[in-house]
Amino acid sequence: MYKKLFIPGPTHVRDEILQAQTVPMIGHRAKEYSELHGAVRQKLEKLLYTQQPVFLYASSGTGVMEGSIRQAVLKRALVTVCGAFSERWFKIAEANGVPADRVDVDWGQGITPEIVDEALSQGDYDTLTVTFNETSTGVMNPLRDIAALVRQKYPDVVILVDAVSGMAGAKIEVDAWDLDVVISSSQKCFALPPGLTVTTISERMLKRAEQVPNRGYYFDFLVMLKKYKLDQTPATPAISLINALNAQLDAILAEGLENHWQRHIDMAEVVRAWARKHFALFPDERFLSNTVTTIENTRGISVADLNAALGERGAMLSNGYGTRLKEKTFRIAHMGDLQVEDIQWLLGQIEDILGLE
Ligand SMILES: *Cc1c(COP(=O)(O)O)cnc(C)c1O
Repeated sequence: MYKKLFIPGPTHVRDEILQAQTVPMIGHRAKEYSELHGAVRQKLEKLLYTQQPVFLYASSGTGVMEGSIRQAVLKRALVTVCGAFSERWFKIAEANGVPADRVDVDWGQGITPEIVDEALSQGDYDTLTVTFNETSTGVMNPLRDIAALVRQKYPDVVILVDAVSGMAGAKIEVDAWDLDVVISSSQKCFALPPGLTVTTISERMLKRAEQVPNRGYYFDFLVMLKKYKLDQTPATPAISLINALNAQLDAILAEGLENHWQRHIDMAEVVRAWARKHFALFPDERFLSNTVTTIENTRGISVADLNAALGERGAMLSNGYGTRLKEKTFRIAHMGDLQVEDIQWLLGQIEDILGLE
C-alpha cells in the first residue's frame, strides 16, 4: 500500500512533480539544457536570496559534504556536533585525512555563537562546519547568529553548512548571512525524488579552493564553476530531477516565499502543541526545528507498532535516529509539500491508534 511519508526524507512527492520528470531526454551540451539550467539557477537565486553560484550535482548531499571539506581546509576544521548528522562532518574529515576537532553539546541542545566563539578561539582553524537543521534531534541551530559571530571575529574562516533538511523549508539568506557553502538534497524540503543536490558557493570558498592542491575530481568547485558559467555541469547532470526541480520551484515561487516559510512554521506549531499535550518535546525549546519535530516517547509506546498501524492507514513517520534515540523518541517531518491538514490528519490517526484523549 502507498504510504504518505511524514519522515525527514525522502518526503512525499506530488504526482505533478513525478510527472515533470517524464519529459523526453535532451543532450546535456545542447542549448535546451543550458536554458533549463539557467531557468532553474535564477529561481534558486530567489529561493536562497543569493547572487552567488548555486551548483547542481548529481549526488546525495553527503557527496558535497565530502567535496567541500576537502576543498575548504588548509589548516584545521572545527566541527560542531549536536547529533548524528552533524557528527557525519567529523567522520568525513577523518576519512579524508583532513585535520579536524569537534565541539559537542548534549543531544537536544543547539550550537550557540558563544560555543562557536569559545571553540574557534582555542585553535588555528580555517573552516567551521554547522548543521543548520539536525535531523536526528529536531534541533534548528541559530545559523544567522553563528555566521554573524564568525564574520565579525574570524573573517577568514570558511563556513560549511549542512542544510540538507532545512533548505527550501526554512529561510536561509545566503548572501546577507555571508555563508560559504550551503548544501541540500532533493529528497527533503524540496520534496523531489533523491539524487540531486543544490549547493551555494561563495567567492571566499572559491578563493580557498584555489589554494588546495588535491581538491578531488568529481566535486571540484573550480571545474564546476567553469561549466556553470555556460549553464552546464562538467559531468552529466540529473536532467530528469532538474526538470522536477524546475516545476517545484515554480510552485514554491507561486505560493510566495514568505507564505512558504510560514506554512512550515504553522505545521511545526501544530505538531509541537500536540507533542506537548500528549508526550514531550525532545529538544530544548530554544532550538525547535521548523521542518522536523523529535518527540520524546514519555508514554513508552512501541514506536515500531505505531508505525505498523499507521502503515495500514497509509502513513509513515520516523522512529528515533540510531541506537541512541530509537524507541526513546519518534519524529514527524513537516516539510516539502505537506500541508497543515495533512499534519492534522496524521495526528488524528495517531490519537486513534493509541487511544489518546
Ligand atoms: C538526510 C540528511 C543528510 C544526508 O543526506 P543524503 O542526501 O542522504 O546524503 C545529511 N544531513 C542532514 C542534516 C540530513 O537530514
